[in-house]
Amino acid sequence: MDKKTEIEIKEALERKKTNLESELSRFAKKDKDIEGDWDTKYPRTKEGDLEDAADEVEQYSTMLPIEFSLEKQLQEVKGALERIKKGSYGICETCGKQIEKEKLLAYPETRICLSCQGDA
Ligand SMILES: [Zn+2]
Repeated sequence: MDKKTEIEIKEALERKKTNLESELSRFAKKDKDIEGDWDTKYPRTKEGDLEDAADEVEQYSTMLPIEFSLEKQLQEVKGALERIKKGSYGICETCGKQIEKEKLLAYPETRICLSCQGDA
């Protein structure tokens, strides 16, 4: 991979990371004990207001899968940045070949090449 592409991809990843973190911080807080883990804020319920409480519990269960999905994406992005640092970025985890540049540009946190993805 040429330097220009690498920089381009790194910038795309950094942007993605920032976006995901700000998305997450809207309804989750960073877990202080576990690096990269986020916890959905459990909504505060007004005492004695059962209807509101039910709404908030419902909201919480709606947010939880979103939190997991964002958290997973964030981990993928961080993993990709880590691989750039280590110099192992862009190598398919399944077949060990160079991942197509087009795929890396479209989906920079990818870990497998197009043909392996096709087999999966
Ligand atoms: Zn492959």
